[in-house]
Amino acid sequence: MKARLVLACIFCFLLKIHAAEIYPERWVWIFGWGLNKDSDVTDISHVIETGAKHGLNGAVLAAGIDTMSLKTPEYFRGLDAIKQICESNHVELIPAGFSIGYGSCFLAHNPNLAEGLPVEDAPFVVRDGVGRLVPDETVRLKNGGFEDFNGNNLKGFNFHDQPGEISFADREIKHSGTASLRLEHFTANPYGHGRVMQEIKVHPHRCYRVTIWVKTEGFQPTGAFRLLALAPHDRDLAPREYNLPSTTDWRQLTMMFNSMTNAKVLLYAGVWDGKAGKIWLDDWRVEEIGPVNVLHRPGTPVTVRSEDGATTYAEGKDYAPLMDPHLQPWREDGDALPLKIIPSGRIHNGDRLRVSWYHSQNINDGQVTVCMAEPEVYEIMGQEMKVVADRLHPKKFLLGMDEVRMGGTCRACAGRNMGELLGECVTKQMQIIRKYLPDEKIYVWSDMFDPNHNAHGNYYLVNGDFTGSWEHVPKDLVMAVWGGAPREKSLQFFEQQGFPVLVACYYDADNLNDVKGWLQIVRPMSNVQGFMYTPWTRKYGLLPAFGDLLSGQR
Ligand SMILES: [Zn+2]
Repeated sequence: MKARLVLACIFCFLLKIHAAEIYPERWVWIFGWGLNKDSDVTDISHVIETGAKHGLNGAVLAAGIDTMSLKTPEYFRGLDAIKQICESNHVELIPAGFSIGYGSCFLAHNPNLAEGLPVEDAPFVVRDGVGRLVPDETVRLKNGGFEDFNGNNLKGFNFHDQPGEISFADREIKHSGTASLRLEHFTANPYGHGRVMQEIKVHPHRCYRVTIWVKTEGFQPTGAFRLLALAPHDRDLAPREYNLPSTTDWRQLTMMFNSMTNAKVLLYAGVWDGKAGKIWLDDWRVEEIGPVNVLHRPGTPVTVRSEDGATTYAEGKDYAPLMDPHLQPWREDGDALPLKIIPSGRIHNGDRLRVSWYHSQNINDGQVTVCMAEPEVYEIMGQEMKVVADRLHPKKFLLGMDEVRMGGTCRACAGRNMGELLGECVTKQMQIIRKYLPDEKIYVWSDMFDPNHNAHGNYYLVNGDFTGSWEHVPKDLVMAVWGGAPREKSLQFFEQQGFPVLVACYYDADNLNDVKGWLQIVRPMSNVQGFMYTPWTRKYGLLPAFGDLLSGQR
């Protein structure tokens, strides 16, 4: 009996020790503010102070820290203020940046570093000393003006959802001509669909612009409208998001896509997961376009040849460099660049040419990927990392290697094993950081190293497969495993692979149930360094409860 009591006491004692032990890294992700405005600095300070009161000890800040060489004095005043707040609250300031998938820090230095999609051998003709594309006029949508109906059935399209129930000919409200296509009653379809589709023939490796006019009335949700260019096997050639106002008068939407290897494409317009309201579509067009968003760097050469391919002309001798002085790094409207012929060269008026170039691509809503194989990327990072080290002397750094939507398509990276290239990229980034900060602990968003997340083939516009990326990075890289719902398989994968883990959870939920789920899963794991409260909409209301939960855990 006595022995049992002693055992029970020891058990209670161990339990207490266990409960008192907490994760060493309890962080908050600071997102949605700049540092130029006083009000932003006040808001960020409030988050840090609140977190500190509830046991948090790290604040991860992106806010343009990776482009400090381009910042104004106001920015540094804001940064110094945040640094001060962190110090006085005993919160470690952890910088984040150098994203490849959202490449704005590199593109701010050189927009040509965007990953490029190839246009190959587009036919040009020279007139008045300028070469311009001869577009194939047969590439077009039939009945794109939505004029020709039989009742509510559109002519010329492969299908439109539930004519007379969801899709209608509207002769009252139209942008031009005598009719438009109206979509409504989306809940009459189990998927909330209200779509119209036509298969069109295209040329492989060419660039096309799609335009459509839309009008909405009480439309919900506002992100439900999409334009799609699908290749066979459902590959989305131009992933785009349009956040339309719920009610708006006619407005034109534009999308550009590269046909890649495809000779036919399914063009969709319409609604997915629609809930309420109406949307009208009119004047839907597709056209082949000349050089727009042309990239000009070693991995994206412009090639100009004679029509028969026998002569390759020389940039600077036969034609002026095909460069966009206003590249930024993409636009969807405006004219194509003219190919200016140099009079003393070998090209003459009336000549027919074949012109090849590479262009950047906008994904979703302004996301542009940088080419991982272009050496200038690492030169820029070296310059910027020196500023980070000098200014902040951080002990930890979070690399922004998430959601790399493109790669393997320009001459610098085509043919590379994409998993190996991605691993090499992060390894080089780690070496650059440790050149200035030898003992730095380095973290990375985990998705591109996780086969259960984004480290696989058939991923967005990537030509290649990210599988195996995790075999090409050092094992002391801490994986910031992220998401709303707990990712048990991902956590198990990184434990098996021997990587340390930071759990980046929460994701703007209305409660901490998912966070509790993550805590439950990692309880037996010994490689977990800590947790980060990770919102994407400045939703910090649950930060105190999150801090309290973590401080009492483990
Ligand atoms: Zn590339």
